Amino acid sequence: MRNPVIDVAALRCRYGDFEAVRGVDLQVHQGELFALLGTNGAGKTTLVETLEGLRAPSAGRVRVLGVDPFRDRAAIRARTGVVLQESGFPPDLTVAEVVRLWRRGDHRAELARLDLAHRRDVRVKQLSGGERRRLDLLLAVLGRPELLFLDEPTTGLDPESRQRTWDVVRGLLAEGTTIVLTTHYLEEAESLAHRLAILHEGEVAVSGAVVDVLAAQPARISFDLPAGLDVLALPMLAGDVVHEPSGRVEVRTRQLQDDLDVLLGWARREGLALARLRAHHASLEDVFHATRQVRVA
Ligand code: ATP
Repeated sequence: MRNPVIDVAALRCRYGDFEAVRGVDLQVHQGELFALLGTNGAGKTTLVETLEGLRAPSAGRVRVLGVDPFRDRAAIRARTGVVLQESGFPPDLTVAEVVRLWRRGDHRAELARLDLAHRRDVRVKQLSGGERRRLDLLLAVLGRPELLFLDEPTTGLDPESRQRTWDVVRGLLAEGTTIVLTTHYLEEAESLAHRLAILHEGEVAVSGAVVDVLAAQPARISFDLPAGLDVLALPMLAGDVVHEPSGRVEVRTRQLQDDLDVLLGWARREGLALARLRAHHASLEDVFHATRQVRVA
């Protein structure tokens, strides 16, 4: 197997007495999208800034594209693209001027790709928040980076702009770009990422391929308990049944299809309607909350 694009072992980062990253191991491979998730203050930004070569770790080993990103920052910079949370463009320049300032040449195709072609003569200060985020992304990909860091690239975007950004990201992946994404939108990670790590208080709480991480959590069936019925009247199910005070029944099961089959067969025989019935595999939202509960407990 080829060397990983990012290889981190036993990484620790301190701010004075406070240790923000506490022994992180992770690897990101060529062509994959790796999502870094975690609550506010979990250490994502600190970790990403270390990967970008902006800060030296206090302990541990970091290799990005085969080199130490802090010591060899110039080499890393030429091969990576970064989309920061906050960008600072000169407000009076137009979109086309900013792009030209960034990199000489004709960038019509890229402007079109990010749906900014019709805005090329508009001043940056007149762009909407979503258009500004797209301009950020455009500048980051202009140099065709091998490795792209996306820090909350869709925060504040409407659903359509978010979809458009996702399409651009998928296009970059198809071209072989390796991407590290930090996001608070779990559905964004679920939809785009191959692998992920959830950070909690500076440590990796969960990591792995998205499919495996999701498969490790039970699926859920939920419905309103029919009026007048005791929860004990439900048929035997493989999963755990929780009757919530709201009257909702939730079944957490590793045998979704079998339990659903039993439940629906029973409801049919009894002539019962299970109002607001839902059945679904675990989402990253479930994984995220389960992580928090385990850690708090
Ligand atoms: P968010 O989701 O809010 O962006 P994060 O996961 O990116 O959070 P970091 O910004 O890496 O988290 O912060 C990790 C911890 O380090 C937090 O407790 C934060 O308060 C602390 N921290 C960050 N920067 C500094 C600093 N310059 N000096 C001291 N402590 C800091």
